[in-house]
Amino acid sequence: MPQHICDCPYCECVVPDTATEVNGKFYCCEACATAHPDNQSCQDSQCDCHRRNWGGIKS
Ligand SMILES: [Zn+2]
Ligand SMILES: [Zn+2]
Ligand SMILES: [Zn+2]
Repeated sequence: MPQHICDCPYCECVVPDTATEVNGKFYCCEACATAHPDNQSCQDSQCDCHRRNWGGIKS
């Protein structure tokens, strides 16, 4: 199975097997899946996707 990159628009983390599915999309972590409420940080501290303010999941 190919690795899937997080569907958070600015995130480039690989989605783990335990990925959270939201509306058919997969995110690397709960923070990405919930569009970083309160700028909650990504599971990867190197990733700055949570600072981009992408404004919610587009379905
Ligand atoms: Zn990320
Ligand atoms: Zn992510
Ligand atoms: Zn993210």
